[in-house]
Amino acid sequence: MTTSSLRSVLTINTQALGANWQQLQAEAPHVPCAAVVKADGYGLGIAPVARALWQAGARFFYVAHFEEALRLRDILPDAEIAVLNGLVAEPRAFLEARLRPVLNSLDQLKAWGALPAPAPANLHLDTGMARLGLDDREQAELLERPDLLQALDRPFLMSHLASAEEPENPSNADQCTQMRSLASALERPVSFANSSGIFLGPDYHFDQLRPGVALYGANPTPNQSNPMRAVVRLDCPILQIRELPSGRPVGYNATWTSERPSRIATIPLGYADGFSRHHSNRGHLYWRGHALPIVGRVSMDLVTIDLSALDPSQGPLPQVGDYLELLGPQQSVDLLAQSAHTIAYDILTSLGARYERRYEAA
Ligand SMILES: *Cc1c(COP(=O)(O)O)cnc(C)c1O
Repeated sequence: MTTSSLRSVLTINTQALGANWQQLQAEAPHVPCAAVVKADGYGLGIAPVARALWQAGARFFYVAHFEEALRLRDILPDAEIAVLNGLVAEPRAFLEARLRPVLNSLDQLKAWGALPAPAPANLHLDTGMARLGLDDREQAELLERPDLLQALDRPFLMSHLASAEEPENPSNADQCTQMRSLASALERPVSFANSSGIFLGPDYHFDQLRPGVALYGANPTPNQSNPMRAVVRLDCPILQIRELPSGRPVGYNATWTSERPSRIATIPLGYADGFSRHHSNRGHLYWRGHALPIVGRVSMDLVTIDLSALDPSQGPLPQVGDYLELLGPQQSVDLLAQSAHTIAYDILTSLGARYERRYEAA
């Protein structure tokens, strides 16, 4: 790989993204699969992400914020777009941009009902997250007044699983049962399963799938091999290499000291790029199959890597200008997340704005 300015290069494979949507759709061929593209398409760039998903066949999109929805409306004029955070703007503003709110309370439902005619909206029912959606008391009131649903044109009743990535967690079945009984009382279609929820089986599919993170290549089935294709690579060029004698500290506050003569590479990757300080003295970059440890603190623009374990008799050593792999075939987003005690969602949505971004359809 060559580039002029020695920046880290983030490569996003939009074809793999589309293939992932199609694969999730194939898990439940008769249930339409939506796509969650909040937070700038999980950090990968809303415009290329949305276009690739549309091209693959997705027609129904979820974002968190009203402003994200307005932006997406410009990118996909014919898509169905829902705003998870609720009725966060005037109902009129939703209608003007043909956006559907995900109504999160009875008050929001009643406000939608004040429109002159039924208009598209979803209704979120809380079955165990205690975050957004009608709570138990509001659900009881709704069951007494199902006529309130007449304000909704082509609605989905929605709920969200708290622990879908733990298939053995009994809360999944509890939430599913509650959703099913609400659906049969209220007689409206249901949108329920997030990425991991899709893999809990057909009971969880209802009438619309609602995956996010799996589209972007993260593993929706932890502890099993990842059924999704990787979408992201991140390659970091070496800016400088230095030879250190034994006993030399590296980086801010000298949190690592060489215990033998060491070769240290410095690369342009820092917390200002969204590469968290939690990776300090943890985790690895890769060179031709070899894991090379991050040593010292992650600083604003730079990280230091110990190359000392590489054996020159086993192949060429990396030189200034060569690229080390942070994300790619040797290190998935899930693996990098694990090494920093976080989750793939956090790694993806933290990907910074200073990387050179390349969108590849291959
Ligand atoms: C983010 C989100 C999703 C997508 O979840 P993933 O775990 O990324 O598949 C689905 N539904 C709601 C309500 C969400 O907030």
